[in-house]
Amino acid sequence: MKINNKPTLINTFILGLTLFTASFTSQAQLNIITTTGMIADLAQNIGGKHVKATSLMGTGVDPHLYKATQGDLRRLTRADIIFYNGLHLEGKMQEIFEKLARKKTVVAVGANIDQNKLMHHGSYPDPHIWFDLSLWQQAGQRVLETLQEQDPKHKADYQNQADEYLKQMAELDSWIKQQILEVPENQRILITAHDAFGYFGKAYDIKVMGLQGISTAAEFGLQDIKKLKNVIVKNNVKAVFVESSVSPRFIESLVAGVTAEGHKVVIGGELYSDAMGPQGTPTDNYFGMVKHNVQTIVNALRQ
Ligand SMILES: [Zn+2]
Repeated sequence: MKINNKPTLINTFILGLTLFTASFTSQAQLNIITTTGMIADLAQNIGGKHVKATSLMGTGVDPHLYKATQGDLRRLTRADIIFYNGLHLEGKMQEIFEKLARKKTVVAVGANIDQNKLMHHGSYPDPHIWFDLSLWQQAGQRVLETLQEQDPKHKADYQNQADEYLKQMAELDSWIKQQILEVPENQRILITAHDAFGYFGKAYDIKVMGLQGISTAAEFGLQDIKKLKNVIVKNNVKAVFVESSVSPRFIESLVAGVTAEGHKVVIGGELYSDAMGPQGTPTDNYFGMVKHNVQTIVNALRQ
């Protein structure tokens, strides 16, 4: 019996140690789940080594239509903090967030944006706040406050990391303003698959028109295509753009329609509107995504 007891004790000890280590690890790093990659990027940069932020929605995924899978629900249930965009971006997930909010910290990063800065489509707010960098800085502020509340021990670290990230965001904001100046004023018309760039247009002085409204869940009709065709012909618009998270076929048919009438317009490239680019590419992070969009737009419209 003595011989058998010894290993049992050791096993118990090892098991205890393993459990201790596991709980220590999970406590040391906050497990953050976000909806979009842009929000995970925000949380990871502000949280630094104290958090592990991952998003449910990968590249090419349309958040307006996204429905949570069983796997998503498990990840959300296990999370220490959940960040989502709000302003109806995740139209099909609202109920889940309301339920989870009774038990854990669930924060909409768009919830405390200045009301007078929000754009509206009818009675709905435009949710695409990440394309005005001054608004996205406010979203970052919300992330910072949440992390400091949940993990006050690392308050100073979160503050420093947020200061650094938000400073880089302000620099990118100035860079975008510079870049857009390269496009002649009468060519600053951005036509895309859906109205994701309203804040971008307002912040950087470009007229923006989408084939669909602010949600891809909305229908569009022949009237909308006709209206856009007229805008292209009348203003001699040189390029229109497809989006990585929306089917290109509507924009392709718009181009075909304009071309059939004897005018020249091309697809100026693919923009990352509601999701970042594939892992391991320069667009797999928020700054890279924004830079890619600006360069694509400027290159296609400036000539
Ligand atoms: Zn959208």
